[in-house]
Amino acid sequence: MKKPLIIGNWKMNKTNTEAKAYFDEFKQLVPGASKWVGIGVPFTCIQLANKYRNFATCAQNLHHEEKGTHTGEISAEILVDLKVKYVLVGHSERRAAGEPDAEIAKKLKLALTHGITPVLCVGETRAEREAGETKAVISKQIEGALEGMEKVKGVIVAYEPVWAISDGSGSSPTASEEQIQEAHTLIKKLVSKRLSSPKILFGGSVNEKNATSLAQIQNVHGFLVGGASLDAKRFALLCNSFNA
Ligand code: PEP
Repeated sequence: MKKPLIIGNWKMNKTNTEAKAYFDEFKQLVPGASKWVGIGVPFTCIQLANKYRNFATCAQNLHHEEKGTHTGEISAEILVDLKVKYVLVGHSERRAAGEPDAEIAKKLKLALTHGITPVLCVGETRAEREAGETKAVISKQIEGALEGMEKVKGVIVAYEPVWAISDGSGSSPTASEEQIQEAHTLIKKLVSKRLSSPKILFGGSVNEKNATSLAQIQNVHGFLVGGASLDAKRFALLCNSFNA
């Protein structure tokens, strides 16, 4: 089976001490996966993560300006210096905190200019799905972020329906095969003029139990994994289910 691209997203979790214990364990369990496994760590863990060569380092955000008077923010240039490979752009938790499409577009372009692979997150809320607005929402988010681009290489899109993202209770349902296939087919069509050979990841309660069957869905090229990436053993099981 062709390996999917799997990117973990730790969100606002783990001190450097906890991260070191995780990385040491993960390295034993998944020794060489830097080409197809990434981990989105807090900024404070990036340098530590870079010491491990068995996965690629992903940042969870960047600022939409090159540099300047933006206290507490991190620029693309700083991320380049830290040698991150991927950066998440437009995660739903940031959109919910007010991040607009125009800033997401700037972030994506800045990442590309600096040679970092952006992972553009899109997806509808439950209310939007129930109102029949899924296609319109995804189209607006895609066009808002990619406007003006033509056949650009190296952008990854992650379809993350907000209602399928786990709430930490361990009981969140993921999307159905049909819902995922429909959204990924739409995204493939929407990005066809803008991106060259795009990878489309799925995110939303993906775990070590459902990943192999979700990987069979047409146009699913990998996963963005939140909760199930927080435990080294669980995330290793998920990754190793594609190591057969
Ligand atoms: C996410 O928030 O990017 C995510 C996919 O979370 P989870 O896997 O926990 O649903």
